[in-house]
Amino acid sequence: MAPSALFWWLLAAALVLALGTGAWGLRQWRRARRLAASEVRLQALLANMPSAVITADELGRIQSFNPAAERIFGYRAEEVAGANLRRLMPEPHRSQHDAYIRRYLETGEPRVLGRPGYEVTGRRKDGTVVPLQLSLSEVAIGGSRQFIGVLSDFSAHKALREELEHEASFANAVINSLPGAFYLVDREMRYHRWNRNFELVTGYSGEEIAAMRAPDFFDPADHEPQRAAIEEVFSEGQSTLEADLITKGGNAIPHFWTGFRVELDGAPYLVGMGIDISERKALEAELIQRATTDPLTGIPNRQHFERHLEREVAQADRTGRMLALIMADLDHFKAVNDGNGHEVGDAVLREAVSVIGPWLRGSDLIARWGGEEFMVLAPETGAEGAGELAERLRQALETHDFPGVGAMTASFGVAEYAPGENPGSLVRRVDAALYRAKWEGRNRVMDQPG
Ligand code: GH3
Ligand code: MG
Ligand code: MG
Repeated sequence: MAPSALFWWLLAAALVLALGTGAWGLRQWRRARRLAASEVRLQALLANMPSAVITADELGRIQSFNPAAERIFGYRAEEVAGANLRRLMPEPHRSQHDAYIRRYLETGEPRVLGRPGYEVTGRRKDGTVVPLQLSLSEVAIGGSRQFIGVLSDFSAHKALREELEHEASFANAVINSLPGAFYLVDREMRYHRWNRNFELVTGYSGEEIAAMRAPDFFDPADHEPQRAAIEEVFSEGQSTLEADLITKGGNAIPHFWTGFRVELDGAPYLVGMGIDISERKALEAELIQRATTDPLTGIPNRQHFERHLEREVAQADRTGRMLALIMADLDHFKAVNDGNGHEVGDAVLREAVSVIGPWLRGSDLIARWGGEEFMVLAPETGAEGAGELAERLRQALETHDFPGVGAMTASFGVAEYAPGENPGSLVRRVDAALYRAKWEGRNRVMDQPG
């Protein structure tokens, strides 16, 4: 009997089924192999990762614990498999962790999820605590939720950060305790850092200083030396400058400024400090004043006069201009002291200076040469002019009523500077002229030609 059509149909169906089953099996087999390869890769990845990878179920029970987790926490994976994540946490998180998870599952409000690099602390098997950075994610596997935590040891980083913070607060404390105004400026003379003192002394707020430039704190007359000093800092490495600080209120306070070049992030900056030197300046001025002034009369003393004479003689030599010297000596002054007392004598000396003063020009210099002897140096004046001036002074004294004493007279010597002569010679000639005025009867002016 020839096979029926039904047979052929059945055979065809069986063949299709067999082939289909075979193909399906082959696909399944291939898929299993791909899965196995992926699993191997995943295991290798987990084994070699420097970060701890820990997975847990929604009750917080540990499902997997990679080698880095073993290293960081000191547990072997078998020891913690199935254990609650609490075990890896120090207090207070240890007691609160179940509540964290419950709250999240109930409300869906995450605390750590979606915040990569969240800083937490872990507790090792030996009880020590380790700072960690945690990145937490959640996956759904077969209808249940799993949490995957990736944790990296943060201790070195944290220690470095703490050290940096420590350094920064130390630097701030040092900067703020500096006795002067501290500043850090760039090449454009803009301020990047300054201390509290800088704000206190200048009177400007931090906001104002940030918008200002270095010349804004200086008098325009000092801008050029300031620019040169700043330039020197950037080209030579350091410089100093003495110049007033102009405050917000317009006060000028003498300061000594220092500047050093520093490189920060590859750019050059000037770091330095301004020290208030007003006290030193005032002391200097006082010392100069004391060293050059006669305390009784307040006019220049002999030392000052001699230096001044030297400069004026040099100038007269250079320019060929005239120069004259007048010397005055009060007549019979000893009698004033003897008859009225030394204090009245002192008053007469001061009075004589105030009688002479108004007759002098701004360029004339009067000085106390000795006891009751005075010098007047008159630039651009010849023997004739000086003789006239001396005569006016003589008359002024003669006609003045000295309290408690009455009339006083003085004798005068006059000498015109002879080109090429030294200051000592000029003084000797004027002294000789004065001597002649005394000898000829006092209360007169005598000239001593060179
Ligand atoms: P002559 O007319 O010759 O200049 O006589 P004289 O008395 O002015 O001259 P002498 O040099 O003999 O005396 C100067 C006096 O000046 C002596 C001294 O006691 C006095 N004398 C000097 N310095 C001072 C001073 O600072 N104060 C006072 N009160 N007297 C002074
Ligand atoms: Mg005298
Ligand atoms: Mg005298």
